Amino acid sequence: MSAANEIIHNAIGGAPAPSASTRRQPVFNPATGEPVAELPLSTVDELDAAVQAAKAALPGWAAMPPLKRARFLFKFKELLDARAADIARAISREHGKTHDDALGEVARGIEVVEFACGIPHLLKGEFSRNVGPSVDTFSDRQPLGVCAGITPFNFPAMVPLWMYPVAVACGNTFILKPSERDPSAPMLVYDLFREAGFPDGVLNVVHGDKVVVDAILDHPDIKAVSFVGSTPIAQYVYSRGTAAGKRVQALGGAKNHMVVMPDADMDKAADALMGAGYGSAGERCMAISVAVPVGEKTADALVERLKPRVESLKIGPSTDADADMGPLVTKDAQERVLGYIDKGVEEGADLVVDGRGFSLQGYEDGYFVGGTLFDRVTTDMTIYKEEIFGPVLSVVRAKTYDEATAMIDAHEYGNGTAIFTRDGDTARDFCDRIEVGMVGVNVPIPVPVAYHSFGGWKRSLFGDHSIYGPEGVRFYTRLKTITQRWPEGIKDGAVFTFPA
Ligand code: NAD
Repeated sequence: MSAANEIIHNAIGGAPAPSASTRRQPVFNPATGEPVAELPLSTVDELDAAVQAAKAALPGWAAMPPLKRARFLFKFKELLDARAADIARAISREHGKTHDDALGEVARGIEVVEFACGIPHLLKGEFSRNVGPSVDTFSDRQPLGVCAGITPFNFPAMVPLWMYPVAVACGNTFILKPSERDPSAPMLVYDLFREAGFPDGVLNVVHGDKVVVDAILDHPDIKAVSFVGSTPIAQYVYSRGTAAGKRVQALGGAKNHMVVMPDADMDKAADALMGAGYGSAGERCMAISVAVPVGEKTADALVERLKPRVESLKIGPSTDADADMGPLVTKDAQERVLGYIDKGVEEGADLVVDGRGFSLQGYEDGYFVGGTLFDRVTTDMTIYKEEIFGPVLSVVRAKTYDEATAMIDAHEYGNGTAIFTRDGDTARDFCDRIEVGMVGVNVPIPVPVAYHSFGGWKRSLFGDHSIYGPEGVRFYTRLKTITQRWPEGIKDGAVFTFPA
């Protein structure tokens, strides 16, 4: 690591807060394998200092009219728009995704800020007049207090923006614990949040690992935790956080299937699979990692179209404007994905395109894996059962539509799925019955827009609320219902004649 490598600081109470921790870890540029920054892994005391700052900011912030809170968000959105390209470069430098893909991530994050700008309307309650004689009842959604968010590496700018714009719009204050693998982009976004003029302590950032996460889960003054990451950690965060009496939403991993019916437009289905399977090197929780063609002829037609396209995927660093995808995020991730490809071969899947030998001239130390395609994968294989999170697409051939849907329903994950067909009846049945939280019809990555809400089923989400959108507002507020009757007022005694 060069002396010039930046040390990334926490941000507490509106000021940079260098960590006193002796535990540090490097952050790498995955295209070159070089360290580019150094990240202190914060202590329990530092997390507590952030909680105190968030608590101090809470009364003033929660009491501020929502319209005024929204004005800070309007300014924040303006700054995010202006600096989108810089944020995208910060994402790519530590994550590895292409610049255009990173710009897309930023755009989807900004959409949540736009949604949160409508908070005066979103917080409106319900009102019933005369629930009894002269008695009215109304409901109000009030903030929870100090909330925290723990985020994954794969969308270092967008996933934090799924959380805190909605949380603070609702009148909460917030502590963000970003992924330790690509912490620079969330810090740049934090700087813009500050520039937008939000009061000190409304948003605080504490970097770190399990030590900080556990401190968040145990801290008595943190009322709610949003988590996005892998399923084992999501389950852990949910169990420990709820045992401590907190409200928790914990979004986990995925294995998203795309069913291709015999009547589908095969070229469009193959296009969709290329983008959804290999975009961002497969490191998306909504990536399609399993293609399920129905019928042998459909499968043959699909694999015939996919093979040449996977072979000719353009792989490069994020600075290459022509690249379809970049490297994996870390050396560990690269080794894990290569291990899965070995395992698929060992378990008898048909390796149609092998990405294991890929190397890029000038970037030999980057964490690249070539696009990989398996055919004739079966549901008992490890590469089918587990989330690979890399540029590996498995084709599982189904004989019938019912076999395809039963396979999806039986999988432990239920994040996203899609069906490609020209038949409305099949599509409608699929939407009605499939046990997955987000469904696409001729749309491969059905990520809900910001004014709907995002969330999977089964072991892809622990908790009762999806994230952002109306569900986000419900998650970050608690319902108060007021029933009121007023004693007789002055009206009965009012005199309308001119006093004599
Ligand atoms: P991860 O679970 O390794 O890390 C997520 C967060 O948890 C990080 O902030 C990390 O510091 C923390 N963490 C890691 N290990 C921990 C431990 N033992 N105890 C406490 N905290 C711990 O996930 P990742 O590798 O950063 O992200 C990829 C995963 O996230 C994939 O499984 C992907 O499907 C999932 N993901 C899901 C969604 C969704 O919306 N469902 C979105 C994005 C990513």
